[in-house]
Amino acid sequence: CTPEVRELLLSRITDVVDYPKPGVVFKDITPLLADPKAFGALTDTLVELAGRYGATKIVGLEARGFILAAPVAVKAGIGFIPVRKAGKLPGATLAQAYELEYGTAEIEVHAEDLSAGDRVMVIDDVLATGGTAEASLELIRRAGAEVAGVAVLMELSFLPGREKLSGALAGAPLDAL
Ligand code: AMP
Repeated sequence: CTPEVRELLLSRITDVVDYPKPGVVFKDITPLLADPKAFGALTDTLVELAGRYGATKIVGLEARGFILAAPVAVKAGIGFIPVRKAGKLPGATLAQAYELEYGTAEIEVHAEDLSAGDRVMVIDDVLATGGTAEASLELIRRAGAEVAGVAVLMELSFLPGREKLSGALAGAPLDAL
């Protein structure tokens, strides 16, 4: 994004220390969402990226990824597909488990929402360890669709998320705004 947009976005993201547990610095995007100029600039930047990726579907990762991805899909005129935590989607799903710091988690997508020929852009707010995004790319490929690219508002560059994701990206772009 432009230096002006970057500055605006940064000014609307708050660091919350020791949330949700000690040692974590939580990136709170609610001030950004409450500012239509900042949220609009973020949306426009992501719409432009969707065009550059040649995306035909937008996947949002639960939960903040939904908020960022939905207006992008509407503005770009392409479909929005939710990737949800296990047990939330009513139809036939594909599921993918992934490792957490302690234990495992699972995400799902409606199997009929993605198919061969789709070029999918994944959107989320924060790339941390990369586990969630990596699992979403597995789901997209298992559905027969192609990964067009991954866009996140923030990348925690002190964590190896980008490295972890590189195999699953298989050459597709990863953009952190
Ligand atoms: P990960 O799978 O470790 O890359 O974690 C990514 C998911 O956890 C994203 O959906 C983020 O919303 C959330 N997340 C991880 N770390 C943070 C953080 N420091 N601040 C806000 N959200 C975070």
